[in-house]
Amino acid sequence: MSKNDPVPANDAIGRLVQEFSKLPGIGPKSAQRITFHLLRSPEERAKALAEALVSLKQRVNLCSICCNVTESDPCPICRNSQRDSATVCIVEQPQDILALEHTGVYKGLYHVLHGAISPTEGIGTDNIRIKELLARFESNTIKEVILATNTNTEGEQTALYLSRVIAPLGIRITRLARGLPFGTELEYADDVTLTRALEGRSEF
Ligand SMILES: [Zn+2]
Repeated sequence: MSKNDPVPANDAIGRLVQEFSKLPGIGPKSAQRITFHLLRSPEERAKALAEALVSLKQRVNLCSICCNVTESDPCPICRNSQRDSATVCIVEQPQDILALEHTGVYKGLYHVLHGAISPTEGIGTDNIRIKELLARFESNTIKEVILATNTNTEGEQTALYLSRVIAPLGIRITRLARGLPFGTELEYADDVTLTRALEGRSEF
């Protein structure tokens, strides 16, 4: 905080404003607005927020199969016997699963990479969950993978790398790209676009 700031950084209000300011999409003004809103709210509201924050880190882990965030292992999607275990859709982030599930058209399983290959940011193949993905192919039950990484440079690089690694295994490789303009982050794509991209997926 600058010395012109009316809220000292080391008191309770200043600390919370600082913490909120670190969150994505929240600038200093919004951080102050949220903090003063909480200050005016009943104490239970603040306690509920604090407890939700603590339990987020205590209770949420990664699924040992698909690496999705989950409170139970395996996650509900991996546990669901109604889903098509021969198809695995590979996404960058857990939020991408939420977007795809929202369409209601995909019935296969997922794998979350938790990022994309990006040499400029120093993210290599060992920094995302590729090892865990390759381990899943050892069971020989997977017949198709859908590369659903973002359509930006990092996502395309990651899809290309994965296709090279997976191709020798004789698994069908498709790419969720048709209808998705370049630069699309799956998380923000609408249902209609995602459904078209899923149904119109093509060989990679
Ligand atoms: Zn899972």
